Amino acid sequence: MLADKDRIFTNLYGQGDSGLKGAKARGAWRGTAGFIKKGQDWIIDQVKTSGLRGRGGAGFPTGLKWSFMPRDVGERPHYLVVNADESEPGTCKDREIMRHDPHLLVEGCLIAGFAMRAHVGYIYVRGEFIRERERLQAAIDEAYEAGLLGKNAAKSGWDFDLYVHHGAGAYICGEETALLESLEGKKGQPRLKPPFPANVGLYGCPTTVNNVESIAVVPEILRRGAEWFAGFGRPNNHGTKLFCISGHVERPCTVEEAMSVPLRELLDKHCGGVRGGWDNLLAVIPGGSSVPCLPADHCDDLPMDFDALRDLKSGLGTAAVIVMDKSTDIVRAIARISYFYKHESCGQCTPCREGTGWMWRVLERMARGEAHKREIDMLLEVTHQVEGHTICALGDAAAWPVQGLIRHFRHEIERRIDSYTANASADDVRLVAAE
Ligand code: SF4
Repeated sequence: MLADKDRIFTNLYGQGDSGLKGAKARGAWRGTAGFIKKGQDWIIDQVKTSGLRGRGGAGFPTGLKWSFMPRDVGERPHYLVVNADESEPGTCKDREIMRHDPHLLVEGCLIAGFAMRAHVGYIYVRGEFIRERERLQAAIDEAYEAGLLGKNAAKSGWDFDLYVHHGAGAYICGEETALLESLEGKKGQPRLKPPFPANVGLYGCPTTVNNVESIAVVPEILRRGAEWFAGFGRPNNHGTKLFCISGHVERPCTVEEAMSVPLRELLDKHCGGVRGGWDNLLAVIPGGSSVPCLPADHCDDLPMDFDALRDLKSGLGTAAVIVMDKSTDIVRAIARISYFYKHESCGQCTPCREGTGWMWRVLERMARGEAHKREIDMLLEVTHQVEGHTICALGDAAAWPVQGLIRHFRHEIERRIDSYTANASADDVRLVAAE
């Protein structure tokens, strides 16, 4: 279990003061100017050495991402954009940072902004996060008053302005290019890539979009040293991480743990275990609703990190662990997730616009058993026709949960079809056959 002394977010539960005084007492804003005076290359090297991978879901190395920004600032200014549009079902970690430790994020923005030669940063906050936006804005106001933002921010010699932008509550605006469109005042629809934001981002200028947690951990990485952060987790999966555990555990919570912590340890030590005991576990969705579920027999010694979960054809995603015990109707649960992605599709590309609705409708029938067994493979084929054939990753996010369901619970779908066929009248069966 991660020792208290190794926690980055020491006010995660809001027991202390989230304002500047409390944050400084916990160590925030200590040494910031000194880090900046060491230069951009030093900061990026430290972040690379720490092994930090993006905490928003994709797990791309953060230092490497920063290094894609042009080295020289030409006519186009550089921008830092922080993605605080946390909307993936099950995920509730960034909001805790904004509520209770906002100064770590504000300080991280100054450091990251400097590292990518940006004088301006925007934090794009999810529409539903009203209190979070207020806390964040209060922290930014305090930082301006204390000279930590603005001209010669924190006496570092670097000018940096930071703005909060409140979204309107659309899931797709968490996709980085849709977020940029929305920030520009347009409809939040993803852009085709390339060009990537590091070349053509906000207002056509070089931009890096990072998740809240990715930015908020940077000041502590610099304070404690990249090697300290790299000391947690398995190779290529370093650091501490906020896990948000929901569903059928005794005490759902968000908790900071070392990367690669075994799933069972995470649930037993922090959540009081699975409801009804470990043997009552049916499945987990380990990284937010878009990643494929894993059945209980995969979960015993499962290290919670990017590579272990990828090897099992799932993913760490946002580390939002959704636990389902044996009372769960797994087919209906995945059908409900499918409905979510159908509802949130922006509609630009045909495979996503049409495929998400098609998958949802078939799953609804399968949840009732009103289907043919041959439709299971048809459904699987449609998921592959959607996956990788769309402008943004929402198509993949809609396809993966269905693939996980068929991979691990095909027998359950078949059982329902058998049971429906056995109980239905001949007319009912003929109706399903005609659909
Ligand atoms: Fe829009 Fe879906 Fe295409 Fe993404 S994949 S751009 S959400 S239609």
